[in-house]
Amino acid sequence: MASQPTTRRRVRRKSFASQFALVLLAVGLATAVAAGAVAWVETQQARTHQEAQTGLGAVRLAAILLRLQTATASERFACEVASLPATAAAYAEGKSSLAPLAKAAAANATSGQVLVFFGSQGAVLAQAPATKVPGLAAVLGEARGAPYACTDPAAGGFFVTTQAGQLLGVGTAPVAGGGADAGRIVVLTPVGAGTLRFVQQMLDIAGLHSSTALLVGGRLALPVRLAGTTYPAGAQLPRSLRSALRNYQQAGQASLGGTQFAAAALPFRTQGGQEVATLLVLESGDAISVTVTDLALPLALAVAGVLLLGMLVVFLLVEHFLNRPLRRLDIAVQRLGLDGYAAPVTVEGGAEEITRLAANFELVRKQLRRQLLIATGRTVIASTLTGNAPLEQALDQVLRSLIDLVDADVAMILLRPHSQMPRGLLLSTGVAEPAPTWAELEGSEGIIGNLIREPRFLVRTHLSPEERNSAEEQLGLRDCLAEPLRSEDHDLGLLLVGNKRRPYVDEDYTLCRGVADQIVIAVEKSTRLAVTQREATTDEMTGLYNYRFLVGYLDQQVNVAERASSPLSVLMLDLDHFKAVNDSHGHPAGDRLLRQFASLMVETIRKSDLAARYGGEEFVVVMANTARDDAEVVADKIRAAVEEMAVKLDDGSEVRITVSIGGVTFPEGSRGARNLLDLSDRALYAAKRNGRNRVEFLDPATTAGEPVSI
Ligand code: GH3
Ligand code: MG
Ligand code: MG
Repeated sequence: MASQPTTRRRVRRKSFASQFALVLLAVGLATAVAAGAVAWVETQQARTHQEAQTGLGAVRLAAILLRLQTATASERFACEVASLPATAAAYAEGKSSLAPLAKAAAANATSGQVLVFFGSQGAVLAQAPATKVPGLAAVLGEARGAPYACTDPAAGGFFVTTQAGQLLGVGTAPVAGGGADAGRIVVLTPVGAGTLRFVQQMLDIAGLHSSTALLVGGRLALPVRLAGTTYPAGAQLPRSLRSALRNYQQAGQASLGGTQFAAAALPFRTQGGQEVATLLVLESGDAISVTVTDLALPLALAVAGVLLLGMLVVFLLVEHFLNRPLRRLDIAVQRLGLDGYAAPVTVEGGAEEITRLAANFELVRKQLRRQLLIATGRTVIASTLTGNAPLEQALDQVLRSLIDLVDADVAMILLRPHSQMPRGLLLSTGVAEPAPTWAELEGSEGIIGNLIREPRFLVRTHLSPEERNSAEEQLGLRDCLAEPLRSEDHDLGLLLVGNKRRPYVDEDYTLCRGVADQIVIAVEKSTRLAVTQREATTDEMTGLYNYRFLVGYLDQQVNVAERASSPLSVLMLDLDHFKAVNDSHGHPAGDRLLRQFASLMVETIRKSDLAARYGGEEFVVVMANTARDDAEVVADKIRAAVEEMAVKLDDGSEVRITVSIGGVTFPEGSRGARNLLDLSDRALYAAKRNGRNRVEFLDPATTAGEPVSI
């Protein structure tokens, strides 16, 4: 038996769960990295920005403090001195009075402060102490037109540098004398380590952990400690700091001794724009507070983004791999039963689980479809075989259905010869004509001859050369499945299918066995029916038709003759003195004589005539389309033949007999079969009466029904 074909398709795709997990992991990681990077960059930028802002703020504050401490302080002091009544008086008196005044004022000055008294023309009238300050006159010249006001310390103030590189804060105040500009007092306050310390302290108080440095001509004006290292006055700034300031002009990132700083610088310029010094502030990163709170929002946004993206990915994946394939599967399954399981269930591109489910559905559908086709086919075959169609026609139809169901090219039914079918029968579909006869097949050496001689179930997927004899060649058989047609007590023949397009499977065997059983029932039924019909219409002893059949047949023939206005002749025959045969030779001898007479009569009449046993030793011959003259010839032929007939008995003796025949020709007896039979009986009676072994016909024209001898 062939094994059940395996139709399950291997699905090599990854499972939906693993695909989903991989994609989600990749998306989650990518998003988290991207979000982290964005948050980090943003934080760094915010931090840098904040540091830069803080650095700038610090340096501005430092500059203000420096101005306040030096230039503004100088200006205030200059204002104080200029507003003294003694100062105006001294200016009025002249240079000699100003020198002691300058000295006295300098005594009250802060350490290192220099007072210079200028005249209205810009000449130095007095100075105390006598420190050389190059460019002082130029500064004073610039300041002359400036809108100085003693009350606004932030607005005033300049810086100048000595030749030794010391930075001095400059403050001036006009001296009014008699309504005119008498001159100008300039106070110079040196920027020293103390000043910077003060600035540093102020910045500390403001919460800015800054290091402050002062540069003159690109070099440190005062010693400074930066990132744990002390740089002396006159030293250059570390390289990293220089490049940070160059790159960022006023604020930037610098790394010093492994520490990150925000570096901010503010130049001090003359009003002409000449840079005399630069104030530098280094703001250490520790001061910058980038807290968790600052990171919370970007992180929360990143997490929310990841979640949203994840949900979107989940939705798309579920839609693509689950929902859509499931919808398709749903539609396909709904349509399953509508058209007899003909539409295939195919779902492509879904998750592995759904594809597998669809493949299983498809497998079930194919099986259901096949079962349905087979069931329908069986029903058709059963109804064909149980219908009223003649057996051969029904069997032919069955063969056509069978090759469709088995998917084969050839189907045959071989019925053995039997009494009803003396030459056997070969019915075939898909076979080249002319097909071999039963006798040819029975005697052949191939597989069919073999099966006829030894009926059995057999499957051959490839017929060997020995199995393919001339009959198989003639039929074009390449493979075959044979099922014997066997009833309970005898062998009817074979059912055979061949040239199948796919391998034979269990269903083919089951189907052929079922069909074979039905064929057996149909053939037996047909045979029984034929026998019954024959028994009902024929006389068992002579094989002639019986009285019942004769009457029906004669009625039909009368109708035909009436419609066609054709002649119809009927003979009634009675053996003469038959009783004597029985009496002298016995009943069996009488029977033998009856049978021999019947055979002789059938041989004598034409095929289109009908002979029947009327009863006992009386017989009837019906001759359609036969006129009286012809009928008389036939009747006399019978009579003469019987006269010549000798019946041999078992004891070796011979019996001879004669027959009397009465005839009538339609339209005599036009009232039907019985009327015709009565009239022929009357003619027979006349034959008996007139001496037996003779033929009498009724002559309606002359005797109105009286028999006329011939
Ligand atoms: P006739 O010439 O007047 O016809 O004389 P007959 O003896 O033939 O006629 P009869 O009617 O007197 O006898 C008919 C005989 O035929 C009587 C009956 O036993 C015999 N018979 C009828 N049927 C059969 C049969 O089936 N077999 C045998 N052996 N004899 C039969
Ligand atoms: Mg009789
Ligand atoms: Mg008789």
